[in-house]
Amino acid sequence: EQTVIILGAGQAGGQCAASLRRNGFEGRILLAGDEPHPPYQRPPLSKAYLSGEIDESRLWLQPPETWTEQSVELRLSSRASAIDRTAKTVRFEDGSEESYTQLVIATGSRVRTLPVPGADLDGVRYLRSIADVDALKADFAPGKRIAIIGGGYIGLEAASVALKLGAKPVVIEAMDRLLARVAVPEMSDFYRQAHESRGVTVRLDSQVAALKPKSGLFGRGKTVTGVELSSGETIACDSALVGIGVIPNQEFAAESGLETGNGILIDEACRTSDPDIFAIGDCAEQHNWLAGKRLRLESVPNALDQAKRAAAAICGSPAPKPEVPWFWSDQYDLKLQTAGLIGDHDSTIIRAGSDETPRSFFHLAGGVLIAADCINDPQSFMAAKMMIAKRAKPDPAALADPEVAMKDVMK
Ligand code: FAD
Repeated sequence: EQTVIILGAGQAGGQCAASLRRNGFEGRILLAGDEPHPPYQRPPLSKAYLSGEIDESRLWLQPPETWTEQSVELRLSSRASAIDRTAKTVRFEDGSEESYTQLVIATGSRVRTLPVPGADLDGVRYLRSIADVDALKADFAPGKRIAIIGGGYIGLEAASVALKLGAKPVVIEAMDRLLARVAVPEMSDFYRQAHESRGVTVRLDSQVAALKPKSGLFGRGKTVTGVELSSGETIACDSALVGIGVIPNQEFAAESGLETGNGILIDEACRTSDPDIFAIGDCAEQHNWLAGKRLRLESVPNALDQAKRAAAAICGSPAPKPEVPWFWSDQYDLKLQTAGLIGDHDSTIIRAGSDETPRSFFHLAGGVLIAADCINDPQSFMAAKMMIAKRAKPDPAALADPEVAMKDVMK
């Protein structure tokens, strides 16, 4: 019997199992993950789940009983530790072994930990899993000072939830602007102002040197009470949330001899250097048609796209059409949708919103639209996605003019 083992029961792994069945795959599917939960969505973890607006059951990719109905064997709390590519087996940490005909690695990524003294103190948190959020929810209480280390999307979403719950967030960012890795300076400024005007303290150019416990007459405490910057200044806090990026979970793939870079290397069909092994989602690096180079994308749309691609390849079904990469982030009442990839752009055009604040940012390279960041502006987002796919050269004056409807910009 044909057996597909999927390692990692997250966004990509769960989708791949479902897509295999949708494509008519009739063999055995074993979906194994090291968390105790059925496959779930992570985006709400720093949004509605953190704020308490939704409970755990709203995170599941599909109702847990659907996996049984689809004859997907879900093996939870089960960590894979090695692949034997010659025997075509996977070994798990409990010593058990399973044979595959095809293997899909969907192990995602893990948080980068803060490499400073005091990083192991109590009250130092990360935000990747349900367990992480359950551990840090008590910190997000009225009056609590939360030092948020890292001004990326996760840190900023957490800051916005913290403020909403009455806590006092301070965002500490090492670079000279927020979102430095993923956004243009104009966007960074927009988000800094959005946070500061609502009451978040934003500290840029601030390197964290150490996390400090209380020290007194009777020795040092075990809980973080301050963030010491390289300038010598200490920012007092009741807890610290670290959001400084992720690292792909690719070690056991590399140990089995699969080619890796900044992620497990895969081709268009999501095949690794072993034709019977696929890799998908946050752990995989693939040539991107839009960027013209290999990239490891950390987003739900990418995880879903690669999951469907791998499932199609396993079933011999036609591959889905290439997609324009996209992403979203919710902070306060600001719903950001981004399409495409910045990096090679040589100009940014700002389309103002009705209240004089910029609403969308369009990024062009040689006149071709390659990316857009749209805030509370779904029309521009949809239009930009289509134009990016077509490598369109929209009229810059029309793009900048909110009086010109996006459907007319596209003409
Ligand atoms: P995951 O969903 O992380 O799943 C991988 C699973 O594999 C995990 O359960 C992991 O524990 C398990 N695993 C790892 N190693 C092993 C092993 N050896 N054996 C068994 N299991 C293993 N993206 C967006 O597009 N929009 C957003 O707004 C957004 N917000 C986010 C907010 C937060 C707080 C986080 C953490 C991420 C967010 N993302 C967002 C990113 C998005 O969630 C990820 O890109 C997506 O989850 C990647 O899917 P994946 O299946 O590759 O990894």
